[in-house]
Amino acid sequence: MMAMENKTADATLESLHRIFTVPEAPDSTLSMIEQEISQNLNQFLNTHIASREKALADIEQDFCSAEIPEHPTFVSDHTQFLLNKLVAQSVHTSAPSFIGHMTSALPYFLMPLSKIMIGLNQNLVKIETSKAFTPLERQVLGMMHNLIYNEKNGFYQQWMHSADHSLGAFCSGGTIANITALWVARNNVLKAEGDFKGIAQEGLFRAMKHYGYDDLAIFVSERGHYSLKKAADVLGIGRENLIAISTDENNRISLPALNDAILKAKANNIQPLAIIGVAGTTETGNIDPLDELATIAEQHGCHFHVDAAWGGATLMSNRYRHLLSGIERADSVTIDAHKQLYIPMGAGMVLFKNPALMSAVEHHAEYILRKGAKDLGSHTLEGSRSGMSMLLFSALNIISRPGYELLINNSIHNAEYFANLIQDSPDFELVSAPELCLLTYRYVPQRTQAALALANDEQKAQLLDVLDKLTISIQKHQRESGRSFVSRTRIHSVQWQRENITVFRVVLANPLTTSDILKNVLMEQQELARQSRHLPLILSLTEQILD
Ligand SMILES: *Cc1c(COP(=O)(O)O)cnc(C)c1O
Repeated sequence: MMAMENKTADATLESLHRIFTVPEAPDSTLSMIEQEISQNLNQFLNTHIASREKALADIEQDFCSAEIPEHPTFVSDHTQFLLNKLVAQSVHTSAPSFIGHMTSALPYFLMPLSKIMIGLNQNLVKIETSKAFTPLERQVLGMMHNLIYNEKNGFYQQWMHSADHSLGAFCSGGTIANITALWVARNNVLKAEGDFKGIAQEGLFRAMKHYGYDDLAIFVSERGHYSLKKAADVLGIGRENLIAISTDENNRISLPALNDAILKAKANNIQPLAIIGVAGTTETGNIDPLDELATIAEQHGCHFHVDAAWGGATLMSNRYRHLLSGIERADSVTIDAHKQLYIPMGAGMVLFKNPALMSAVEHHAEYILRKGAKDLGSHTLEGSRSGMSMLLFSALNIISRPGYELLINNSIHNAEYFANLIQDSPDFELVSAPELCLLTYRYVPQRTQAALALANDEQKAQLLDVLDKLTISIQKHQRESGRSFVSRTRIHSVQWQRENITVFRVVLANPLTTSDILKNVLMEQQELARQSRHLPLILSLTEQILD
């Protein structure tokens, strides 16, 4: 137990009481941290996160004991351990040169506000433990619903706080949001009818017998997020029945291929469960043609879900929201607030166009979640849940829609700048141009680019193989040196008619990322390429081809 400073660290009931009130002597290490964090979060992170990375195996050495301590530790001692062993080896996701992932910097005010949230410790599953937080969360869902669907005629006054309806669900992230959307879609396709009490009551096996389907299928482009596979798995649909539709040269779902796949399924007595459009794919950031997808879904009477976990925040921008047009026709939409809305991890949402749709998953229990009550838990997959929606509520108020628009527009502007920089650098190749603020590229020496265009199949394959190795090696060394970070992925290359090539992936969300930082990222990569043991082979293959 965390005994107090200046006392022996012993676990008496008296000292246990104290940890639920206030410490007698202010705890020095904790106070220092609180002060540093509230005065200058970035400085705190810069000071305490080591710039050089330790090998994971070495870090594991600090976390390898399975013994639950038999003796209490002073808070200060323990905090010091955290600073040295945990914070020091953490990833500096808020650094302006950390441009590899969707996880980015946070506004400073969320730190103290999250303390209020944790201090209050409300449980959003039921009103009895979240009297004010439940209306707040319903309002947040209403605001996000409005952002997507912009319903009129008193729609929000009517449904926002209605006991038997739900505009959506707040959850821990895009994965749960996607599962929830498909759960609702599944239960509506296999709903009660005649003597059949519905899949929620009778299960998938009897539902399939009742409806006489041989199978169910979900359609999404091959760029769909892996969380959809998890959803297909847990909902009993099966990963194989998540049908991956091919994409065009812009990484968008091919509509003819989608139509063919749906017709083929129907001809085989396979019931389409949902069509999913991706608004901002994880690997290339592209947006499917949502309006056309909505029309196809309508024609087949099929649930239309849009996975806008990452890209949905673009709706905040009046300049760019047209890129997602058609999203307002979706039956359900996933948006993560912990991506481009700058909220800490654990803030996902699913919104439903029709406030009655979620009744397909409604669940009641006697001691809580009584029928007709307004408990959020009757419609959520998760049970006990924190008041995370408060942080989104605060950020929406403090930053406001135009503030978010500035952030979104700035990110897109930065991505365009970086794309131009790549295109102007002879030894780099832009692989996927940014539609939003995500792009992919790789290092290919200028002469090698010329050689690739002339190479025969065998030479090309050989060259692309070494280029993959070079990309991997540059990315690893850049990460290890700790100055900047880009991620890497493998994507289908239309240009080189190749199954997959390895590329750098950049997500530009941090408003503090400057053009100098972006220039330095390329310079560092150029330097790492020169030092790489793969480069000589690439250059000699290049000269063989060009000779
Ligand atoms: C991030 C993401 C998800 C998964 O969301 P989590 O919050 O990580 O669970 C799903 N789909 C897309 C398109 C995403 O970008």
